[in-house]
Amino acid sequence: MEFEFSPEHKQLRETVRRHAEEEMRPHVAEADDAERFPKALFARWGELGLIGARYPEVDGGIGMDKISDCIIREELGRVSQAFCAAFSAHSHLGIWPIWRAGTEEQKSRFFAPAVRGEKIACFGLSEPDGGSNIRAMKTRAEKVDGGYKINGSKLYITNSPMADFMMLAARTAPELKPSAISLFIVELPNAAVEISHLKKEGLKGSETGLLYIEDLFVPDDCLLGHTEGTYPVILESLTENRVGVSASVLGVAKGAYEEALDYARDRIVADKPILEYQAVAHRLADMVSDIEAAHWMVYHGAWQVDQGGIDHESAAKIKLFVSEAAFRVTERAIRVLGGAGMMREYGVGRHHRDAMVYLFGEGTSDIQRNLISRAMKERDMLP
Ligand SMILES: Cc1cc2nc3c(=O)[nH]c(=O)nc-3n(C[C@H](O)[C@H](O)[C@H](O)COP(=O)(O)OP(=O)(O)OC[C@H]3O[C@@H](n4cnc5c(N)ncnc54)[C@H](O)[C@@H]3O)c2cc1C
Repeated sequence: MEFEFSPEHKQLRETVRRHAEEEMRPHVAEADDAERFPKALFARWGELGLIGARYPEVDGGIGMDKISDCIIREELGRVSQAFCAAFSAHSHLGIWPIWRAGTEEQKSRFFAPAVRGEKIACFGLSEPDGGSNIRAMKTRAEKVDGGYKINGSKLYITNSPMADFMMLAARTAPELKPSAISLFIVELPNAAVEISHLKKEGLKGSETGLLYIEDLFVPDDCLLGHTEGTYPVILESLTENRVGVSASVLGVAKGAYEEALDYARDRIVADKPILEYQAVAHRLADMVSDIEAAHWMVYHGAWQVDQGGIDHESAAKIKLFVSEAAFRVTERAIRVLGGAGMMREYGVGRHHRDAMVYLFGEGTSDIQRNLISRAMKERDMLP
């Protein structure tokens, strides 16, 4: 067993940290207030090779591993989980399915420019009537001459207000079965897709939309794979992304912990730094313990992906533990700061609001528990 990052991994972390501190941090508070994402970051992420880090060089990527992708997301999340959510919706959810199941033409038209940060992607899966239950999807794609006609709606779609294309999931057959769901690449903006910008309590520096889709025509060459059979691609993509998202949430926890520690060193109450009060030190001890457990779960999960793939149960355990841990850590950070924790001047309140989103985003904690307990039943560990 080895518990060391390679020299390349350490170098990557340094590079991304420098980028996040120098080029992202100055925009974080303003983006949170204005609820607007600084779009130029995509081009910069493309230039730095961050978007394509985990994709093979032959497909236009950098050819690094999943551990590298997690290091990138942890470092971006440490400074801004909102910016990292935009990164995740683009670099994974929006384009991973094209890399996995797309034609050469789809790769050169959509995947390659997205990896360079020239086109922005989003992923339209969740719907007003079915966030947790994908199979209940109502958006319907009907076969017409030369393509498909799509009608329906999508809710909470990250990046959609500024995206150049969307990876859209729609039902290609009426049956409520997985094989009836297919993926389409939809160019945006599009007159048949009305997008409204949603105002949020967390991840405010990312842009999220509600979409109404009316008689949208998608040509045959924008269907991903076949009309039957892309559901496993969706599940595989979501499973792998639970590790990536957990890495960014780990970053939020670390960011909040560092701010709380700095504050506790400097803040003097009754002639001594609050760090010297046992109650505060215990809170910090709880925070580092959660962070350490989360850290090893994330990087063990990334290592599993690099060894050939991660199963649904393991990915669900990582997402469940790390998102709940980040919620606890960021809440404790606020307590360490006391009243200052409620002030916008400090980042811990924002970190907590952002961490809260991941109790639901990418599958709620309850859904992760369902996946874990279902796997336990399959192994006869539960009745
Ligand atoms: C900021 C943000 C960005 C997002 N970005 C995207 C995106 O880019 N693309 C995309 O497709 N989606 C996106 N989502 C949607 C996200 O994946 C869903 O919010 C999530 O899957 C939960 O769905 P829901 O919100 O409809 O909750 P619901 O499904 O309505 O759940 C409500 C409550 O019921 C519980 N519940 C529901 N079903 C069960 C069950 N079977 N067992 C136990 N408990 C259950 C849930 O745990 C939850 O507590 C985003 C969400 C947010 C908040």
